[in-house]
Amino acid sequence: MQIHKITSRFPDFGVNKIQEISRFVYEISKREKILPEKILNNISSNNFEAVKKELLKKRFPYVFAHNEEIKPYLPKLKLDSTLSFDINNSEFNPKKILIEKLAINSCLAKRFRTFFSKAKFTEIVSLKSFIKDNRNSGIANYNKRRDMVFITNEKYDFFKKCPCTKGAVGCGYNIFNLGFGCIFDCTYCYLQEYNNAPGIIFPANIDTFFEEFKNYKKPKMRIGTGEFSDSLMLDNVTEYSLSIIEFFNKHKDVLFEFKTKSSNVGAILKARHSGNIIVSWSLNPQKIIDKNEFFTATLGERLGSAKKCSQAGYKIGFHFDPVIYFKGWEREYERTIDSLFSRIKPRDISWISIGTFRFKPELKPIIENRFPDNEILDEELLPGFDNKLRYPYGLRYNMYKFLLSVFEKYSRKIPIYLCMEETSMWQDLKSACKVNHLAHLACGLR
Ligand code: SF4
Repeated sequence: MQIHKITSRFPDFGVNKIQEISRFVYEISKREKILPEKILNNISSNNFEAVKKELLKKRFPYVFAHNEEIKPYLPKLKLDSTLSFDINNSEFNPKKILIEKLAINSCLAKRFRTFFSKAKFTEIVSLKSFIKDNRNSGIANYNKRRDMVFITNEKYDFFKKCPCTKGAVGCGYNIFNLGFGCIFDCTYCYLQEYNNAPGIIFPANIDTFFEEFKNYKKPKMRIGTGEFSDSLMLDNVTEYSLSIIEFFNKHKDVLFEFKTKSSNVGAILKARHSGNIIVSWSLNPQKIIDKNEFFTATLGERLGSAKKCSQAGYKIGFHFDPVIYFKGWEREYERTIDSLFSRIKPRDISWISIGTFRFKPELKPIIENRFPDNEILDEELLPGFDNKLRYPYGLRYNMYKFLLSVFEKYSRKIPIYLCMEETSMWQDLKSACKVNHLAHLACGLR
């Protein structure tokens, strides 16, 4: 969007007002697929407050119509076409594999040498010192992160409680912090704004995690990998799942969860487990997968893998997270849920989580630059109870209510929980739906 067009249309506006109007015009033009000139030509007033009101009404029609408060997040528009991500480069073939001195002779390093024999392997003292000497953050470097792998010897960061989000009802989840970074690329992924490593990190010393777990363990706890990575994305190489399943065979009072968008279940299917392992998939309609979850398995492949795992006696989980609003979302999500239950029996499902799309404001310009054709930012996303950008309360409520009603067609017994939602949303849904399966797994809300 050329600023000069806005400046010449509103010659009396100062820099900040021009910036604000530019952001509105860009977002409306993108959302409605109309030329910015057309938006400008339709504005009759030259008064800033009147112009802003007109643009707010166009940009946030749902919120405007429902009298919800509008405090939009309007960062300065900064678009750089050189930062867009190449979604065609699906193959994961790291060019450089850097191995910490203490992991140089590890089994994991050997496996990477076998699988990626064309990569350049280099020994480094430590990841920490490497990052200190090679400070490379920013979008351009994030786009290149799949070229580099680090095999490390983790010393400190083994487990943590899921921090959830301020003001939300937590589910008491624990994170098994095995690795960092992902070979997939989802438009909405929070790692884009969180990651400061120039590659993908795989700890070689999983045995140390197991040693440390003895001090961290609480009976009946839920713990899983897949918070800062995808649990199974490269499991054929790492075979982490084999060691993890074997270890948790000795801790039957703990539920361990692998969370994935892959169909990489070969190792899991070979393992002998004790019934306390949950393999779970993030699900979205194929339309959303095609446009937002690059390099991941298709919906059919995910459900096919879930079926194989349930036939092998594993408990299965599903995460409808993030649920994305778009025209026709009800039909597409209902179809997705119908496909799920056409393959998986309700009794084999341990839990289902639902969470509507939300993200830290800092992620917005990153998505805009990495995925300039994205549609997920076109909907009405405003700072919510935790300052993350979210759909308005009423819209979220309707989305949850609809999804819960579809799940009810199949079962009222599966524990379903909302991920990172505020207390009032739980309460409103509990009383409106009269659902007894909207569960709080940890116990916070009764
Ligand atoms: S699969 Fe998960 S971790 Fe990987 S890019 Fe997508 S959202 Fe991020």
